[in-house]
Amino acid sequence: MDILPKSLEDLVKILNEIPGIGPKTAERIAFFIVVSKSDFIEKLLNSLSKVKSEIKVCSECGMVSDSDPCKICSSSDRDKQIICVVEKPNDVLVIEKTEEFNGVYHVLGGVISPIEGIGPRDISIDKLISRIVSNNVKELFFALDPDAEGETTLSFIVSIVRKMNINLTFTSIAKGIPMGGNIEYSDPFTLSKAIKSRSKIEY
Ligand SMILES: [Zn+2]
Repeated sequence: MDILPKSLEDLVKILNEIPGIGPKTAERIAFFIVVSKSDFIEKLLNSLSKVKSEIKVCSECGMVSDSDPCKICSSSDRDKQIICVVEKPNDVLVIEKTEEFNGVYHVLGGVISPIEGIGPRDISIDKLISRIVSNNVKELFFALDPDAEGETTLSFIVSIVRKMNINLTFTSIAKGIPMGGNIEYSDPFTLSKAIKSRSKIEY
């Protein structure tokens, strides 16, 4: 017998789509929302609608922000000739928290993954190349997860830049993060050290 009301079942399904939230946790959150005081649902709805209407994506770097360009891209204190390439917006957040990086970012919005059907055209590589050219970038600093997808994405971008005969230094955080590790979940100390000692990569 299916005893879960349809609307609650739909809520569980939506919550289950969030990365890191399995079916059990989705169910727990859904029940929490349903039995919570009505002002919680009100606050949640308000917050979601604000996020939807006020959050923009920076047309330069792809970071989420309340302004376009974002605060980092529009700051005169940041070195626009060093671009840190990351997979997703939350990676910018964790790197910013270390206060070790003073360049700008480029959010790819994913990594190349043939298994998941994500190719180079599905992520923001063209925009990255045009930023490299127009800002006369001198260092491309890869802060991608040290796994097969991160490595494939890095090699692909490096090969495009090389083909264009653009002279810049490639560096990577990868060696400072354990293999199979994750930028997002790295502790600030490890990440700080990895940024400071980022190594030059040759291809
Ligand atoms: Zn930006």
